[in-house]
Amino acid sequence: MLDLTRFETDPDHVHDVQSFAAGEWIGPDAAARDIHSAVTGQRIARAGNGALDTEAMLRHARNVGGPALRAMTFHQRAKLVKALALHLGQHKDQLYAVSFATGATQKDHLIDIDGGIGTMFVFASKGRREMPDDHVYLDGGVEQLSRNGTFLGQHICTPLQGVAVHINAFNFPVWGMLEKLAPTLLAGVPAIVKPATASCYVTELAVRFMLESGLLPDGALQLVSGGLGDMLDRLTVQDVVSFTGSAETALKLRSAPHILANSIRFIAEQDSLNASILGPDAAPGTPEFDLFIKEVTREMTTKAGQKCTAIRRIIAPDPHVPAVIDALQASLAKTTIGNPKDSATRMGALVSASQKADVLAKANQIGAEAERVFGNPDRFEVHGASAEAGAFLPPMLFHCADPDRATTVHEVEAFGPVSTVMPYRDLDHAIQLANRGHGSLVTSVITRDGDVARTVAMGAGAYHGRLYFNNRNSMGESTGHGSPLPHMVHGGPGRAGGGEEMGGVRGVMHYMQRTAIQGSPDLLTAIGRK
Ligand code: NAP
Repeated sequence: MLDLTRFETDPDHVHDVQSFAAGEWIGPDAAARDIHSAVTGQRIARAGNGALDTEAMLRHARNVGGPALRAMTFHQRAKLVKALALHLGQHKDQLYAVSFATGATQKDHLIDIDGGIGTMFVFASKGRREMPDDHVYLDGGVEQLSRNGTFLGQHICTPLQGVAVHINAFNFPVWGMLEKLAPTLLAGVPAIVKPATASCYVTELAVRFMLESGLLPDGALQLVSGGLGDMLDRLTVQDVVSFTGSAETALKLRSAPHILANSIRFIAEQDSLNASILGPDAAPGTPEFDLFIKEVTREMTTKAGQKCTAIRRIIAPDPHVPAVIDALQASLAKTTIGNPKDSATRMGALVSASQKADVLAKANQIGAEAERVFGNPDRFEVHGASAEAGAFLPPMLFHCADPDRATTVHEVEAFGPVSTVMPYRDLDHAIQLANRGHGSLVTSVITRDGDVARTVAMGAGAYHGRLYFNNRNSMGESTGHGSPLPHMVHGGPGRAGGGEEMGGVRGVMHYMQRTAIQGSPDLLTAIGRK
């Protein structure tokens, strides 16, 4: 168990992050990787065990966890998910305390930890309201396949009989796990969670809380801290991989011959060049203009820009570009960068020194076609921590005057507080630029004009998993450009991975098989119990 009294404060203490495999906690071995604090750079933990018995883990999930979960109805599993959320809620202070080492501020924790718990509550509620107190889910109505009605059709969904392997990115160690775990458990499928190594100590603690609650059946949840070993080569047609991370890793994993040969489901959420469009009607001086500046600033600085949905491209009407840059400069200048534990800090650190180096390299690439108009990575103030030891960066704003000729700004994602302003001539041009991300998780449009909204929906919908519209009427209650919601699908085509998560019951279906049932009415009634 992570020793909170020594973690990060005692320079001689290195936490051994464990895996939970086939009912046993297993510590790191010689194959372990070191993990450093994002804030102090000090070595705080190590994770990974080269001798992990992946076959035993898969067997345990398939033979013990799966049958126990499938014996429960959707409503029973929904109650389980709710009880887990309540239990995690009782321990969130400890999760907050540990998460600071990832560079995240208390506000960031609310997105990751409270957001993850909230997502579980929504899935629990959807399971109770929109799914039956039964084992079979009916998909759509009965189809008339015969003249006299003696032979009918119906689609049903039943749980996969394997295991879901969840591979997560470093940026949301709690939400990233829970947004996948809730629909998986609701479907009746056991999970093996593999968090990114850089922040896996937070996930480990959350997994411990859930396991110690005694709520979960044996085998329903296992954890791999460190490398996955050969696990993916041992999957079968009943298993599913849900991946969040970079396009590069996704391509490598999903194109493995074993995955392809066995048609193993692979759901990918990957990096994306999200955009925000300032509507033609949202001129400086309007509440919409101010809202746009607020949304962009928030997206650039929350989680130090390490959000898959963060705004990377700021698309504004040509005449308003100088005003947008001025307003963003003023707004970003108010970002106090520093120790995430200080309440005055608005932006903490990136997760690691290597992530900082990666962001700087990508910002340099962007700098080849765009001018940096805010933020100097060689000269910025860090409060309450060392700029040299921690993985700190300032927000960096670029201006790309010719986005038609440019390519890097549409293709290179600097996964940090980096964004580029670019001009558009007319709405069609704005749509064209937004679509040059080759598939994104989200594009937002700040407008009051219904025609603008409709034109963007028609022109950009096919390229984006989510379109977020906001204006003075909705801003008081809107949830923010960057927040994926459990009710709504999260994912995007092409570059964004081609996957979809959440979206209420839609997200549960990834872990179930849809089967067309044909037969006489009495047999259909017996199967569906309806
Ligand atoms: P990453 O390097 O691609 O890693 C993602 C996950 O894959 C980690 O758990 C990593 O484990 C694991 N992994 C890497 N190589 C593997 C292998 N050969 N076999 C099995 N697992 C392997 O991405 P990241 O640096 O953690 O995350 C940042 C990226 O994720 C950004 O590009 C961001 O845009 C994207 N992202 C997308 C979303 C979304 O929802 N679309 C959300 C968040 C982040 P280790 O850490 O142990 O290497």
